[in-house]
Amino acid sequence: MTEQTPEHAQKSGFETRAIHAGYEPDEMTGAVIPPIYATSTYKQDGVGGMRGGYEYSRSGNPTRTALEGNIAALEEGERGFAFASGLAAEHTLLQSLCRPGDHVVIPDDAYGGTYRLFAKVEQPWGLAHTAAPVSDVDAMRAAIRPGETKVVWVETPTNPLLNIGDIEALAAVAHDAGALLVVDNTFASPYLQQPLTLGADVVVHSTTKYCGGHSDVVGGALVVRDLDVAEKVAFHQNSIGAVAGPFDAWLTLRGLKTLAVRMDRHCDNAEKVVEFLAGDPRVAQVVYPGLPEHPGHAVASRQMKRYGGIVSFRVAGGEQQALDTCGRAKVFTLAESLGGIESLIEHPGRMTHASVAGTALEVPSDLIRLSVGIETVEDLLADLDQALGAGPVG
Ligand SMILES: *Cc1c(COP(=O)(O)O)cnc(C)c1O
Repeated sequence: MTEQTPEHAQKSGFETRAIHAGYEPDEMTGAVIPPIYATSTYKQDGVGGMRGGYEYSRSGNPTRTALEGNIAALEEGERGFAFASGLAAEHTLLQSLCRPGDHVVIPDDAYGGTYRLFAKVEQPWGLAHTAAPVSDVDAMRAAIRPGETKVVWVETPTNPLLNIGDIEALAAVAHDAGALLVVDNTFASPYLQQPLTLGADVVVHSTTKYCGGHSDVVGGALVVRDLDVAEKVAFHQNSIGAVAGPFDAWLTLRGLKTLAVRMDRHCDNAEKVVEFLAGDPRVAQVVYPGLPEHPGHAVASRQMKRYGGIVSFRVAGGEQQALDTCGRAKVFTLAESLGGIESLIEHPGRMTHASVAGTALEVPSDLIRLSVGIETVEDLLADLDQALGAGPVG
């Protein structure tokens, strides 16, 4: 844990760390919450006489330091790094770990922006990739190219079908091949799952989602468990410069402080939504790792505290009913993204996953994805009930 974290917070429970890790009340004013240090540069007391190690805000800013210490403590990692977006974090990590000629294994249902980064940015630079299903450990192992594969990259749960990768098993597969395991922990958040404690080497976050949690800031983070990797990432964070600004860092840190209570309510509400949908004849299938029939249920039960706030389902009336349901929803806002306090509904086939239509990654056209928020659950259920309409017979 970073030296920024007060000693009493280092070995404490998750909620205590969420509130105290990364920052001690300001020496001069006693400010309980880190100020937004809107400064690009810092006065030096004589040449090379930096106060507190700050010289220029791309290299370091105290508000960002507080966020980085906090998220490192929540993921139980050695060091955290905050970026302007999740994709900025991902690109910086790949530049830190890979060179042209290297190879990575990625999920065959990776987040679309992540896939585009690998296919359109890293691949032309010289980094090859093979896509495999994260829920199939043997397929992930078979995708490794001995000597060339530097990173096995997984998301779990994945989007929008919520496939589950076995982090412990995949860490062993990666390490056997001399590669690192990187886990995009955006969907679970550090409250539900701590990949570094299961053997992963690096955790990636789009803090835009559950960590920020209020749909008011775009950001990304990396947490590493090894000082060697931390040094490389620190160098590339400063050299590439895609850092989180002080206000963005402040908003994200404010979000993290309430992560535990928000996630519990997201999960409570999602479970009730699942129960409602599973009992409704207008719904053909509910996809949620908390359901015993979900293929990843056993692994999810082992490695997650609860099953999260994302619920996907297929309607019985085909694509038109799915589109109509999205259009009729009122409490659920029709929008992309996820992980905020407000409930969102979307049609992956036409929205978030439109770019994979016609490929092996295509999602069913009757699929709807919900990001279940923390509103009054009865209002959410009533909204879904009216939005589903008359259903297939109507
Ligand atoms: C949103 C998201 C990203 C990308 O993050 P940005 O903050 O939008 O750059 C990466 N991975 C997952 C799983 C996401 O949901």
